[in-house]
Amino acid sequence: MDILETIYATPAGKFVARKVGLADPPKLRRGRLLPTGPIVLGELEGGRIGRETLTLIGVTPGQPVLDVPEARVKDEKGRAVPPRYPAKPGAIVVDATGVRELTELEGIRCLLRPVMRSLEPSGRIVILASDASAVEGLEAKAVAQAIDGINRTIGKELRGGATSNLVFLKEGTGPSDLASTLSFLLEGRSAFVDGQTWRVGPAKVAHELSAKPFADRIVVVTGAARGIGAAIGRTFARDGATVVAVDIPASGDALAKVANELGGSALQLDITAADAGARIASHVASRHGEDARIWAIVHNAGITRDRMLANLDEKTWASVLDVNLAAEMRINDFLLSADHPGGLGEEARIVGIASTSGVAGNKGQTNYAASKAGVMGYVWALKEDLADRPITVNAVAPGFIETEMTAAIPFVQREIFRRTNSLSQGGNPVDVAETLAYLCGPASGGVDGQVVRVCGQNLIGA
Ligand code: NAD
Repeated sequence: MDILETIYATPAGKFVARKVGLADPPKLRRGRLLPTGPIVLGELEGGRIGRETLTLIGVTPGQPVLDVPEARVKDEKGRAVPPRYPAKPGAIVVDATGVRELTELEGIRCLLRPVMRSLEPSGRIVILASDASAVEGLEAKAVAQAIDGINRTIGKELRGGATSNLVFLKEGTGPSDLASTLSFLLEGRSAFVDGQTWRVGPAKVAHELSAKPFADRIVVVTGAARGIGAAIGRTFARDGATVVAVDIPASGDALAKVANELGGSALQLDITAADAGARIASHVASRHGEDARIWAIVHNAGITRDRMLANLDEKTWASVLDVNLAAEMRINDFLLSADHPGGLGEEARIVGIASTSGVAGNKGQTNYAASKAGVMGYVWALKEDLADRPITVNAVAPGFIETEMTAAIPFVQREIFRRTNSLSQGGNPVDVAETLAYLCGPASGGVDGQVVRVCGQNLIGA
């Protein structure tokens, strides 16, 4: 259990903790739950996609839409009158996709100011903006980046587990491309995703949103015997997937337990084996038939072997790069090379796991940071390679997640890492799993080549 939660559980503990300035970590809304309060749509001039997408995902905005002129009403002293919202809005979606000029940023300030302290616990701010690649002119491109700065800052200012995220829309993006991202961000599935920015574009193949997006679909999860991998298996199974759980033979018992719980199958395999890709495909073909194909592969297995570089020998260096990066590349090479029985489907999802250590570097983790930064570089490059195929490739970059891996970090270092984010707590394995499930969803075809941080807006690399 989170040590601060334990302290805050007693009145005396709460009193002392508050006196010494230890923040009470807010309890986060998780799962497929929308906010309970009204969802407000703040529509700035020229923005339409927010309204259309909310309708598509079945959300009726709870308040009149405020356009810029109304939001800019002045009082008798010439001060901007803030728009009126319900007492405790659950979320606000700011459609700034039409914003091109610096002066129009005022509309965002005006819409957001009244909700900064009134959002319900675990409320949401979602800003929609046009990607710099989709707008003409220097000012419009600068404005796009300015919105990024707004989002990152309000993520740090919000309280009570509320989050802010920004979605940049590429040219030609429609409501059906945005729907899976907007519903993910409004729901509790995105509990630990805060202050982040990513890009959505037109999907190569359109799919509708579904409560069981992986029904009749096979999803392979490596490192599934415990920790984040087991949570990934559970989340995909909840959403209808047939899960193939992969882990090393030494974790065979735990692996079998997870696979049984999920009604999936277990494959004991060291992913660093040269023929690992072929073994995954032949397992799928033998269990599910020659015609079966993998919908998604989640490259989750990973190890740490932390040493300061001054003490880092060749073997320790190589083992981390091999498990965390080279194995993933070899497996994908095989699965992408041809239409193998039990291999990757024509339309498919590939996801990997990077880390905030890969974003910012971390003392004692040269090998790990190299492997995780490498995962990001690989995702960006592979996306280009697969440009002509309806396969998406993405990654998540978790920050501090409560697992056996992070339980092994020395206490003081662990507490610092756990608290230094906008939500003052570590994430749960399910937070990573939910983000991966969103990225792998059939309706997420417009999300490609992205690295989404699941870190509660960790200060590392922010
Ligand atoms: P974990 O150590 O609890 O679980 C990792 C699993 O991978 C284990 O079951 C292990 O047996 C398996 N595995 C290791 N080597 C393997 C191999 N060669 N072949 C097959 N399976 C293998 O780790 P976790 O905390 O659940 O982390 C999962 C992933 O998330 C890793 O890639 C890790 O680097 C990444 N990550 C974790 C955190 C965190 O805070 N826990 C943060 C950032 C990134």
